[in-house]
Amino acid sequence: MNKFRKFTTFSTALIISALSGCGNNNNSGNDKIKIAYLPITHSLAVCELAEESKDIELVKYGSWTELMDALNTGRVDGASVLIELAMKSKEQGVNISAVALGHKDGNVIITSNEIENITDLKGKTFAIPHRQSSHNILLNEALSGAGMTIDDVNITELSPTEMPSALAAGQIDGYCVAEPFGAKAVSMGIGKVLYSSEELWEDSFCCGLVLTDNFMEKNPEKTENLISAYKQAGANLNPEKAKETAKKYLNQDDDVLDISLQWISYNNLDITKESYDTLTEKVIKYNLSENPPSYEDFVK
Ligand code: ZN
Repeated sequence: MNKFRKFTTFSTALIISALSGCGNNNNSGNDKIKIAYLPITHSLAVCELAEESKDIELVKYGSWTELMDALNTGRVDGASVLIELAMKSKEQGVNISAVALGHKDGNVIITSNEIENITDLKGKTFAIPHRQSSHNILLNEALSGAGMTIDDVNITELSPTEMPSALAAGQIDGYCVAEPFGAKAVSMGIGKVLYSSEELWEDSFCCGLVLTDNFMEKNPEKTENLISAYKQAGANLNPEKAKETAKKYLNQDDDVLDISLQWISYNNLDITKESYDTLTEKVIKYNLSENPPSYEDFVK
């Protein structure tokens, strides 16, 4: 199941030179565009963008909480982040906007090898990274398909890196989280894929590229070029390139990456109104938020 669709070979020279050419030409560091990310396959499009453009400064964080704090306080110009977390910040008055997706698909529901089907999770402990995540929505979708709800399982929030070891130790019975931490359980032989995201939610959302409104208002031309270069960087991530970039930024074993990168794609990272509206319906349905921002307010 290789999720990579046809990609276009394209020279990014034009876009990159346009990105470099706006604003001043001082590349000493002060005028670089600071983008926050976590070392996960879901952030490979910004990693690839940084490979292709010297105007991007990636700022690595170890948790979504730290990353969101940097974004919310304007210490970075943007972030590759769980879109529901960014929607919640917007709802709470932080001036940020989503300009593209981080990836398409690329999530799995992992369980211990003893779990045969979703009904076996009744009364068991299941980990998600954050209530505000597509991982929470995907679990809800899986349970809903069996006439169950989130109340039938014990939910715990763990950081992505903790989940494989927690599963191995029997502290949890399953998890859904950004990759490659699902693939890690498969690679270690301690867990299996119960569902992939596309089985539960067609063209599912997860991460987005989010920019601060302050940055966009002060740098309209730079913003436009950044978004174009970013989407092209995503399209350039063919399987070989994705693995090369992942090896450089993620510090994961080859076999973990080989498994994980089959599940994700980085093509066509536009956020359409139809797909965003589907997301907001799920956000409300599964009680992530009562009042998520509208497409018109949040997606630029
Ligand atoms: Zn994601």
